[in-house]
Parts: sequence; C-alpha cells; structure tokens
Amino acid sequence: MRIYDTLTATKKTFEPLGSPVKIYFCGLTPKNYPHIGHAKLFVTADVMRRYLRHLGHEVLYVQNFTDIDDKTIAKAEQEGVSYQEVAERYTKAYFANMDALNVMRADRYPKATDAIPAIIRAVETLVEKGYGYAVGGNVYYRVDRFPPYGQLSKRSAADNQAGAGLRTRKPIAGAVEEAEAASEALVDLADVDTGLERDEQLVAPLAAADDENMADAVDAVTAVAEKENLSDFALWKAAKPGEPSWESPWGPGRPAWHIECTTMVFEELGERIDIHGGGQDLIFPHHENEIAQSEAAVGVAPFVNYWVHIALLNTTTPEGRTEKMAHSLGNFTTINDILARYEPGVLRLYLLSQHYRTPATYDASVLEDSARAWDRLRAAYTNATLLRAWPPYQDIEAKEPVDVELTKVGRKLRGAIPAARAAFRAGMDDDFNTSQGVAALFDLVADFNRLRDSLATPRALTPTAKGLAEEAFGAIEEIMAVLGLPAPEIGHVVVDGRVVHGAGADTDLAPQVERLLAERDRLRADRDFAGADRVRDDLIGLGVTVEDHPQGKVWRRKR
Ligand SMILES: [Zn+2]
Repeated sequence: MRIYDTLTATKKTFEPLGSPVKIYFCGLTPKNYPHIGHAKLFVTADVMRRYLRHLGHEVLYVQNFTDIDDKTIAKAEQEGVSYQEVAERYTKAYFANMDALNVMRADRYPKATDAIPAIIRAVETLVEKGYGYAVGGNVYYRVDRFPPYGQLSKRSAADNQAGAGLRTRKPIAGAVEEAEAASEALVDLADVDTGLERDEQLVAPLAAADDENMADAVDAVTAVAEKENLSDFALWKAAKPGEPSWESPWGPGRPAWHIECTTMVFEELGERIDIHGGGQDLIFPHHENEIAQSEAAVGVAPFVNYWVHIALLNTTTPEGRTEKMAHSLGNFTTINDILARYEPGVLRLYLLSQHYRTPATYDASVLEDSARAWDRLRAAYTNATLLRAWPPYQDIEAKEPVDVELTKVGRKLRGAIPAARAAFRAGMDDDFNTSQGVAALFDLVADFNRLRDSLATPRALTPTAKGLAEEAFGAIEEIMAVLGLPAPEIGHVVVDGRVVHGAGADTDLAPQVERLLAERDRLRADRDFAGADRVRDDLIGLGVTVEDHPQGKVWRRKR
C-alpha cells in the first residue's frame, strides 16, 4: 500500500521499520468539549490503525495528552479550578465521545506532566549539543544550527535567517506564535508588522494590547527580545507567578509544547518511528520543530518515515466565509451536539465519506445526507436479521423452489462480493482512501438489499440463497469493521409474533408497543383501516417507527 508523506510530498510504498508498526499521533489539549474537527482527526487515525491491522501488521499506537499548556492554565483560571481538574474533566469527555464513535483506545496515552524529568533531559541534551540556549529562565532552540529546518513545511532557509526574519512576515508571526500569544488579535497585528525593525516589534504589540491580552503581549515581546533569531522557538518556559511549575537546571518553569511530543515519542517508541500524524495545522511550527529537536538530539534521521496530516474541518460563518472549526474561534459543533441528534455511526460515516486529505466543510445538511445513507445500512442489518429468522427452507412445503443463483439479482450479488472487497482494498491501499472504501461498501449493500426484496417468501430462501446472503452480509460486516463503523440500531424485529432481535431493550416501551401492534393487526384483519391508522398515530406519539415486511415487523425508538 502507499501512504502520502508530507515531508517528501509523495505517496510512498509502505515499508515498516519492523514489527510492531510504530504510530504516534498528537493528541488533545483537554480544555473544552471535543468538537467534530477532533472527531475527524481521531476517527481517521483509528481507521489507519485498523487498516494496517487488517493487512496483518501488528501496530503500536501512542497518542499523547497535552495536559499542561497556556490554554489549560487559562481555562483553569477562568473556571476557578486547578489545571489538573480541567484536564481531567475534558479527558473524560474525550473518552466518552471516542468510545461512542467506536475509536479504539490507544495502546498508551502519555501525559506531558508525567514526562517532565525526561523532557528536562531532552532540553539538556539540546543545550549540550549547542542547539539550545538559556536566557533568563527560558530555553530556546537555535534554528540556524539545524540546516534542514523548513523541510516539512516547505519554508525557505531565508525565512528562517535572523536578518531576513525581521523583514518577512512568517518568522515574525512564528515568533509570536512561539510565545504562544493566545490572542488572535495579537497574532494578526504581528503578521502585518512586516518590515519593522526589532525595536518596533517590541513596542507595537504592547501598544495594541488591551487589558485582557496584555499578559500575552508581554510574553510575545519578551520572546522577541530574548531570542538570538526570531525564528528560534521555546523549549522551556520560565515560571510565571501563580502558574504550575517544575524545578529545572534553568530555574522553575514548564516545558514548551513541541519538546513534549519529541520526548514522549522517544520514551514510548524510540528514536525512529513509522508514522507520525496530526492535523494539517500542526505541520508548522509543531511538527517542523519536532523534527529539528528529535534529529538534533539523537543525530538519527529521518525521525519519522511517514508524516500524515489530516485536513481541517471547516465551517461556514453566517457571513458565508469558510474558516477552520476551532475552539478559539467559537465556531464549533461539539460531538455531544451531534450525538444528541444522530446515531454515532452517522457522524463516523460522514467523516469517512471524504478522503482525509480533502478539506471538508461541515454544515447541518451534510449529516442529513449521511443519515439517509445510514438508513440503507440499517436496512441491510434488518434484512440479514429477517432472513436468519425465516424458517429453514426444508420445513416449507414448496413445489417450485427458486434457484436464486439463476436470478438476475442473485447473479449480480454473486459478482458484487469479490468486486466490493477488491474495490475496498484498492481504495484503502491508495493512501487510506476511505471515500472509495465507503463507496465499495454501499455498492454491496445495495445489491444485498435487492436480494432480500427479491425473496418475497421463505419458499425462495433455498440453502444456496441463504448461503449467498450470508456470504454477502459477512463481507459487509468485514468492511464495516475495518472502517470501524458500528452496527446500526435496528430495534425490535418480530417474526411470527416472536422477538428475534432487540429483546430486552426499551423495556419501558416494549409492552405498550407490542399491545398496540397486536391491536393494529386485529383492526386490519377486520378491515377497520381508520382504526388501524389511529393506532399508528399512537405509535408515532410514543416516538416509535414501525416497518412492515412480508416476513415480520420491525419497530424502534426514534432518535
Ligand atoms: Zn505533538
């Protein structure tokens, strides 16, 4: 199979370093309820992992939590609780959402705060080797010492030179970002300050800052003043009053974000790994800086064989502008918002319907499309359940059994099974093209559902037809498992008055629904259709949908 690697900007044949395949994904900064952009990121990572396992690889998957940074500290201040409480609360929310979306748990979840001694050792190593330098309790990385810098994000060396840095916009924005000035306004301001001399850069953010972002402005300005070069980035940050800090050779402080990931990769997986992933917004500066730190610290390259970056999920503003969904922009839809209205599988299906490197724009209508597609999958699961509940063919007194293999629908399905498997594999082998994988699944589902429609009576369900149906449904379930799509909710399936699926669920509703369904049958038998319609309205009033099939009834509680 081939995987697109951001560093070489090509699809490369996948050749693992060894077994297990080592994967590291940059995880969550738990500071708010996860939004559907996070769902896209972690569902994609989950499918990559599932597919590699499907191909027979053993996989070791590590995903960190950035449990201490400016944002968790700010949130803690805002809520009047400790940063640990903030991290714990939103880590819990993350797991609840991911479990619902059928995202497998990582093999390990390292936390930055558990890795502090190792992080300090990594910073020391970089200082000893001349890549790091300390100024006033802060430690910075000397970007000029690492010539390949910019290779991942395709920034030119000139962008990173000190002299040029003063006059080009990227390093200035980068410098401010590096100081992790959370204020968007401040970043914008620095971004337009091209051509300013360093002195002016020191003054401008302060002049523009208001009370709220003054602390950020001071941070940014301190960093600009201390750095040898504006594109240098922080490895260790001196403690500020009231903030959590740890003792270090440079005084009390806390790690900067990039060195956390470098250290956790080393600690959990070693000096070289197969796949490192994250959102496209992490290419610069986060992953660029990780390469600089990691390769400088151990002198081994490449640090990562396949850099995979997942396109951001965009949303449309009321003014019609497209922008990235982000907590900081306040334009997000939480996973909880979606799960209150849809089955988790609907969201997962939506996220996998595009290729992961294709930017997607979310609005409420796209989920309605996925919900309709999900109903076709639901029909397949219902059909499989009905077929399995039919009495064995041998028990039916049939004079003219239908040989399904000779029907048009049967022959088509017979061919559709290997075709779907091949199309799925071809798509997934081509850089995890889940869009093609999902299309292959739905082609097979359509042919399978047609088979059930063609089997109007149990008489047609010969052993060969049953075998064909089982084989097709088995392939559907196999593809669903690799995509991590959970089985759709099908509710109660009742055949010949017997509950063959869903017994024990919705116990609060079941007796009432069963009584109403029996009542409706009786009224229909008496040809009292108006009465039957009234019962149907009662069922709708209970929030229940009912499907009638020649072989039985299906009812379920509506979302
Ligand atoms: Zn990271």
